[in-house]
Amino acid sequence: MNVQRTNIISVTSVIKGVIAAAALCLLFLSAISVVPTTAIAHGGLEHVMGVVQKISPTSVMVSTTDGKTTEVLFDQKTTYAKSGHPVQGSDIKVGDRVVIHAAKSGDKLIARTVEARTAK
Ligand SMILES: [Zn+2]
Repeated sequence: MNVQRTNIISVTSVIKGVIAAAALCLLFLSAISVVPTTAIAHGGLEHVMGVVQKISPTSVMVSTTDGKTTEVLFDQKTTYAKSGHPVQGSDIKVGDRVVIHAAKSGDKLIARTVEARTAK
């Protein structure tokens, strides 16, 4: 009983330390590794996950985990974060790992949020 209580408390404090959106994505990422699926969307947004291959002020090319390259466009509403902190688009570099939530507009993807992590 005591051991279980301790575990619950530490898990709660870890979750509190992570912003809600990032926590959701972590859960989502762990779900993907268990259940492979190509139709990935939640909150009405597409997920694009992978490594930045090329980035400009208007778009990013991401090489995704399934071996494809996907272009995602930026607009004025796009927000950027790196290691959990808000940044400018110019702070996202080639080689960074990214999780992008993008809205579909015709055959284009428009980034709503771009979350990056520096390549290790
Ligand atoms: Zn997500």
